[in-house]
Amino acid sequence: MYAGGEVADRLADCDCRLTSPAPPVMFNQQNLRSMIEPTPPLNALVEQAASLLRTHFRTEPVWTGIAPGRVNLIGEHTDYNQGWVLPIAIDRYTVLAAAPGGVPNEIRVFSASLGEQAALPLRDSGGRHPQAWMRYVEGMVAEYRDLGVICPALDMVIVSSVPVGSGLSSSAALELALAHVIEAATEQTATPEARIGASIRAERAFAGVPCGVMDQTVAERARAGHALLLDCQDNTFSHVPFFSPQVSLLVIHSGITHELASGAYATRRAECEAAAEKMGLSSLRSLATAHLKALEAEATLSKRARHVMTENARVRAMVAALTAGDYCAAGALMSESHESLRDDFAVSCDAVDHLVRLAEEEEGVLGARMTGGGFGGCVIALVRSEWVDTAATAICRRYTEYIGRTTLCFTVNATAGSGEMDAPV
Ligand code: ADP
Ligand code: MG
Repeated sequence: MYAGGEVADRLADCDCRLTSPAPPVMFNQQNLRSMIEPTPPLNALVEQAASLLRTHFRTEPVWTGIAPGRVNLIGEHTDYNQGWVLPIAIDRYTVLAAAPGGVPNEIRVFSASLGEQAALPLRDSGGRHPQAWMRYVEGMVAEYRDLGVICPALDMVIVSSVPVGSGLSSSAALELALAHVIEAATEQTATPEARIGASIRAERAFAGVPCGVMDQTVAERARAGHALLLDCQDNTFSHVPFFSPQVSLLVIHSGITHELASGAYATRRAECEAAAEKMGLSSLRSLATAHLKALEAEATLSKRARHVMTENARVRAMVAALTAGDYCAAGALMSESHESLRDDFAVSCDAVDHLVRLAEEEEGVLGARMTGGGFGGCVIALVRSEWVDTAATAICRRYTEYIGRTTLCFTVNATAGSGEMDAPV
């Protein structure tokens, strides 16, 4: 269905900024450095983790846990409103190399991402670990204990190509990679549901982040070359093709680190609950335009509810666009989503809005939006593949001028979740 010729024909017909007759091959011919950061291959991460385990803990890796980050194509802030989301797992991974622990009743962990080492006593790990990032480890060990799986002493190294705290879900990648290591070390296999459930509970109860179900579900269940359509009311899902050599998905970091656990996220959740209650609905899932009349006197709640309603509709439209191979429509939906998140849901910020505008001004860009919880983090842009280098360079150069520092930019492919992945070679 996604054979190159068909997609090329559709793209040729589409009139949204696809006007330039000549692809910008001059860029590469002039040997200018691409602004697109290369994606490290997964086996290089696995080797790096193994090598760090040797140097830090003087032991050989016995178990490996791997899980990907994600970007949400569309369906933002719909998850906790019992709505629909459409994320992809990305070919950026968190990799754990682990071995039986050198210290009894202790899990020792070195995170190469943070350059920090920490220890978790297994006998007494009821409290909140003093190092915040270790609470994810503490939480996963505790949640598996509740499932009857007792994690042994381990020495472990974390390496990751998922930027931490950038809205690409390094937290769920860490949780699912830990889940697979705990299962491998105990030779007890949980179901994907149990794995996802333990990860969500660990993030909520131990890291203190009131997350929805999307991040952990896609990190575990995604299929390569597909987006995951997830119904957050009952966790049913299906796979929607998301692959074409004709288009690329660019991720650009705004350089602003979000604080998802902070007040604004909780405020939006509370506003959505208040809006649903005032309309007599159990959630905003079933909201229709007629319901909004009940919110006429509540301008803010009305806007929040409208975002959720229109965003759910955009998820459905996106599924139709991707299924039809209509990437122009897909790009337009991404840009509409951003406007709604900016104007109605108020979870963007000036820098991210500016970055989206810069992306949308570039030739070959079909659409752009913030992705993740908001208040910073990353922007994604759907770009015609032959323009992606030129567009990325221009966007990064102009954004660097605006923000005063260089920015991270890379392309991503839809990859498999940790439960669907082949064991690394
Ligand atoms: P995101 O999931 O969007 O990256 P979060 O704030 O939800 O952002 O999660 C980031 C947190 O997860 C970090 O601050 C850290 O505590 C933990 N974390 C994620 N990846 C790693 C890693 N590779 N090493 C150590 N801690 C990590
Ligand atoms: Mg997270």
